Amino acid sequence: MNTKRNRSGFDLYSIRTVTILSFLWFAAFLIVTIWSLQTFFINNYYEDMKARETQNSAMMLQTTYESGNTNLANLALSISVDTGTFVRMDIGEEIYVFDGGTIVEPSEATYSYEIGKAREKLVASGQKSLSLMANDSKTKARRLVYVSYLGKRRYGNFLYIVAPLYPVQSTISILRQQLTYISAIAFIIALLLARLISSRLTNPIKGITESAIKLGQGKYNVKFNGGGFTETNELARTLNTASYEMQKTEHYQRDLIANVSHDLKTPLTMIKSYAEMINDISGDIPEKRAQHLNVIITEADRLNKLVNDMLAASRLQSNQVELNKEKFDIVEAALEVAETYLVLNDTDGYFINFTRCKPAYVYGDKEKMKQVMSNLISNAVKYCGEDKFVNIELTRIGNKKVRFDVFDHGEGIAADELAHVWERYYRASANHNRAIEGTGLGLSIVRSILALHNANYGVDSKVGQGSDFWFEMDIVKK
Ligand code: ADP
Repeated sequence: MNTKRNRSGFDLYSIRTVTILSFLWFAAFLIVTIWSLQTFFINNYYEDMKARETQNSAMMLQTTYESGNTNLANLALSISVDTGTFVRMDIGEEIYVFDGGTIVEPSEATYSYEIGKAREKLVASGQKSLSLMANDSKTKARRLVYVSYLGKRRYGNFLYIVAPLYPVQSTISILRQQLTYISAIAFIIALLLARLISSRLTNPIKGITESAIKLGQGKYNVKFNGGGFTETNELARTLNTASYEMQKTEHYQRDLIANVSHDLKTPLTMIKSYAEMINDISGDIPEKRAQHLNVIITEADRLNKLVNDMLAASRLQSNQVELNKEKFDIVEAALEVAETYLVLNDTDGYFINFTRCKPAYVYGDKEKMKQVMSNLISNAVKYCGEDKFVNIELTRIGNKKVRFDVFDHGEGIAADELAHVWERYYRASANHNRAIEGTGLGLSIVRSILALHNANYGVDSKVGQGSDFWFEMDIVKK
């Protein structure tokens, strides 16, 4: 990130500086705009406004006159009073004057010089009406003189309106003074607001940074606080989840080291002690020796399986596995797997059933799918109840899907643990105390493989009643 921070700690790119500068820019822009509008344009604006007002008055008088309305005089008087203008109408021989702006009785002589000039100009120009600015030579007062024909030109009737233009200088200086105050207040408010907003924005970010530093130091129990903004709240939520996941992984890994070292230790101790026994005692007694060698082989196999599981899980996790996809009959594959377990019915008093449907071809990695089924069946065998009952079942769902289920009547899995059994190194609490070997890797391998096949999978389980681990795959044409 690009930050410029000088020795005093001022950072040009910090949220605080940027917010304060933006607010000050905005305040300055507003103030400059208002100042220039007020001081430079107020004069023009005032004169334009007067000209428009005068024209409107003239139009009203014109229409009233043309419609022959007898209210003309009243209207002229009220316009003159309302707008503070001098109104004169020359109709035939008659001259009517009104001046609402002064208390002096108006007369024909009032503004007669300006009126005369304006009329001359109008007649010379051939226009219907015109306005001009006149400066009083003595008082320097400015006025707007409007003249137009009243009714048709050939009757020679005239309407004059003279609007005095008051000097706006005094108004401008009042405004300037007020604007100075307003500007100062605006700057102060902008500064305060910017500081308030920036500190409200930066405080949660600072808090999150501090917590993240702690997390980096391995303190997984830190809590991230969002500070009330949607974005920062979301960031805090994400980081809380991340720290929870990290905590969980660490927890599982600690468990794994404990489990694995225990699981490795037991067969190693057995191997060592049986080897010693052969060495010391049974070496010359073929029957005993064979028995002891058998134990060594079984334990070595167990070690082998454990190491393989760990390798498989870590390869799958790091996406190093390539699938060898082909079309194969999943029912046949399931039977091949089940057969290695069905022998337990005869040797160990299990009741393992295999219920099949008609062949169902799927597209996937046959060996990996066999590993999935083997892991699920071996779990059912490991965790089945006293009745040693396990049911492996394949069913077709229409012509679209095939479903693999393995049921047992074991302890089952508590509802709050169901989602976790698929996680790496997770071993459900109900099975912890039992002397059942396991690494907590089997189901995580199953999950990774099924995910690579885009298969649906799940587990339905009730504590005390048993479990049903299942997956479904799309049937393809043979
Ligand atoms: P493990 O090597 O411990 O069996 P798995 O990943 O295969 O590891 O299973 C994770 C956990 O899920 C097991 O420790 C066990 O608690 C639970 N589990 C798996 N299958 C079953 C089942 N059929 N019945 C009850 N619990 C099961």
